[in-house]
Amino acid sequence: MHLTASDTGTERGATWLKAGGLRPTRQRLALAALLVGDGQNRHVTAESLYALSSSAGEKVSLATVYNTLRAFCDAGLMNEVVVDGSKSYFDTRTDDHPHFYWEDSHRLTDASAEELEIASLPQAPEGMAISRVDVVIRLRKA
Ligand SMILES: [Zn+2]
Repeated sequence: MHLTASDTGTERGATWLKAGGLRPTRQRLALAALLVGDGQNRHVTAESLYALSSSAGEKVSLATVYNTLRAFCDAGLMNEVVVDGSKSYFDTRTDDHPHFYWEDSHRLTDASAEELEIASLPQAPEGMAISRVDVVIRLRKA
């Protein structure tokens, strides 16, 4: 059988949803194909994924996109990176890695993890454990 680019994308999306134990509803499949269909990692906001899905002809509301991204995070398929308190980015790459935040264009991209060294961290308050450390390096024109 010959697969077109979008068939491959949908298959990748289906495999991805399965890995997270999520039922492949039509909307989830469509969004998953947009997120991981080309096999690349991606950083999106709810708004940018909504725009992408609209231009792909998907009838999904912004609220559904947002809730679906949350469900993908809960399933361990994506990580949420909060940049500006109000602004969440969702990352299909789930290993620990630092990010560049481009203040001019409001883009989030991966930074090299090898060059990052965290010598020590503050002790977690009693009864608490550190669950994750997010490193966001903010960039502006030099
Ligand atoms: Zn990333």
